[in-house]
Amino acid sequence: MNQKGGVGKTTTAVNLAASVAAAERKTLLLDLDPQGNASSGVGVRPRTVERSVYDCLIGRASFKEVIVDTEIPHLFVAPATQDLVAAELELVDDPERAIRLKTALADLLVREKFEYVFVDCPPSLGLLTVNALTAANRVLVPLQCEYYALEGLTHLMATIDRIKNGTNPTLEVEGIVLTMFDARNNLAHQVADEVRKHFHVFDSIIPRNVRLSEAPSHGKPVLLYDVQSKGAQGYLGLAKEILST
Ligand code: ADP
Ligand code: MG
Repeated sequence: MNQKGGVGKTTTAVNLAASVAAAERKTLLLDLDPQGNASSGVGVRPRTVERSVYDCLIGRASFKEVIVDTEIPHLFVAPATQDLVAAELELVDDPERAIRLKTALADLLVREKFEYVFVDCPPSLGLLTVNALTAANRVLVPLQCEYYALEGLTHLMATIDRIKNGTNPTLEVEGIVLTMFDARNNLAHQVADEVRKHFHVFDSIIPRNVRLSEAPSHGKPVLLYDVQSKGAQGYLGLAKEILST
């Protein structure tokens, strides 16, 4: 999660989920952004989706009915469509609105034994994100090292604290993933050093890499598109770190 748009949330969700699945862990990529980019990033065409995460949130379908498999063995996806925009409004008066996702997932996790669920959040701190933070054990924050990066983090951490004092006391910030990193840029290094003073930053840094931006147009995680690329290697390294914690 990071409420800033374009920082690499979806790219990280897709490629980290694929990399963890490649290590033979049963993995679910859960798309919680109405834009549905995580879904299309693993080859789901929005028009072919009959039931989506929206139906799970409003209680019209179970996750079991919504999940589809992907080209990557062990990787499954719960797709999102534009419908999801309506969920925020439709749930506004529901006293259980913040725990909808957690409740809908609970049954699935018991029956299907997923080892990892990666939730791709929308770029806002609204109800969808509150649901994600309520259902999650840990938060990963993709961060692009630019001047205003830290400012956004303060808001995010305040939201996380609110969730910890409310619907999810055991929520933890697992760490910051530095994305689109340009090692030739001095500012990027300064921002990275500053972030390290305050948060756990994963050793695996994701470089700016054109393969990562090309892969989604083929509906593939970068692993299937160009496994030798620096982007693919970055996310494989990150998966290793996650798997070792
Ligand atoms: P968010 O989900 O936070 O809005 P995205 O993951 O969609 O961000 O990334 C925004 C744009 O940047 C996309 O076009 C994506 O393909 C591109 N992108 C993301 N990470 C990288 C990277 N490491 N190198 C190059 N392009 C990237
Ligand atoms: Mg996104």
